[in-house]
Amino acid sequence: MIQKDEINEILEKYHKEKITIATLCSHSALNITYGAKQEGFRTLGICQTERVPYYRAFTEAKPDIFPPDIPSIEDPKDMLNEKFQEILREHNTIVVPTGSFVAYVGSKNLEENFFVPVQGNRKVLEWEGNRKKQKQWLENSGVKIPKEFKYPSDIDRLCITKFYGAKGGQGFFLAASEKDFYKEIEKRKIDPKKTKFVIQEYVLGSRLYPHMHFSPFSERGLKINDGWLEILGYDQRMESNIDELHRAGLSRKEMKKLGIEESFTVVGNRPVIPREKLQIPYYSIGKKIVEASQKLFSPGMLGAFCPETICTKDLDIYVFEISARIVAGTNIWSPTGAPEGWYIWGEPMYMGRRIAREIKLGIERGELEKVVY
Ligand code: AMP
Ligand code: AMP
Repeated sequence: MIQKDEINEILEKYHKEKITIATLCSHSALNITYGAKQEGFRTLGICQTERVPYYRAFTEAKPDIFPPDIPSIEDPKDMLNEKFQEILREHNTIVVPTGSFVAYVGSKNLEENFFVPVQGNRKVLEWEGNRKKQKQWLENSGVKIPKEFKYPSDIDRLCITKFYGAKGGQGFFLAASEKDFYKEIEKRKIDPKKTKFVIQEYVLGSRLYPHMHFSPFSERGLKINDGWLEILGYDQRMESNIDELHRAGLSRKEMKKLGIEESFTVVGNRPVIPREKLQIPYYSIGKKIVEASQKLFSPGMLGAFCPETICTKDLDIYVFEISARIVAGTNIWSPTGAPEGWYIWGEPMYMGRRIAREIKLGIERGELEKVVY
């Protein structure tokens, strides 16, 4: 594990007036880059060769420091190369981790092999990527979570089987019995002994993804211990093909007969505004998650995060997962800002911009090391 002191040492050598904000060109890069530009930062794009022309096409959001001024990479993991890390440090770079880091670079690599300052608490991504740790976090927080089944033989209701890592729902499947489960496993050619998965009760309701941010600086939002929790907006994921299956008007049995398989692959996001009284339980969920994180892995959750939730017909809210960094659903509010962000900041405040604002506040207060690790 890279120690906080090692990162502080790098940060101390940085020219604070020349800080560059960087991310991998994927996931929420345009949101992050545009937001950083709006806050007056230089930006840098870590970009795979094949994507360079496409990211350049977004004239205003395209990172300032971009191939060919810096090398492009072939694989996201290439950003771990010592030479590439050196380039990032030379540009006084703070890297914003996204779902692509979790999915393609891996939280272990960030923890052990990436000697470049990262926005937020580097330790937190391990708590996101490891489902056992994530469950411990959620259980400690006291929020409602779906029931989990240890063995397929325990399945006694409709369940969803989910695999490890931020894979955007890919390959997840439903099963209502042990027999159902093994049928699906067989069809998908999965070896249950070699694959890590969890079996969760399938909660019926409306999915809501609140865009949360926790700051030791902002003095806006809900006060929690030594910091402030803000909810900047909400979204709902569009998942293919599960969202549209009902249109075929077939029962699950009929679909199986026709060889139609449900799938949860995320393809986009839509804006959501919850019923106003629900803003209160959502703040309460965020508070519980932040407080648990502070006890489990000090200094705990910093910056952007998202408890992924389902709100039932009785308005009970279940948290089925936490993303412990910017979620791509925040892209829908960039650069206009959702109402919730406006109500806190009085200006368009979307997550990419909010992250840059936090870095700016850290620099202004001479406390950048509080929000970067
Ligand atoms: P990508 O760079 O699009 O491959 O995304 C990196 C990871 O984040 C993948 O595991 C995706 O499934 C996930 N992801 C990307 N976009 C979204 C989105 N709009 N909503 C939720 N997850 C996403
Ligand atoms: P996840 O990778 O945990 O974000 O899950 C991907 C998608 O699967 C979610 O966006 C939901 O649509 C669905 N999902 C995950 N867990 C549950 C659950 N316990 N109940 C119902 N749907 C779920």
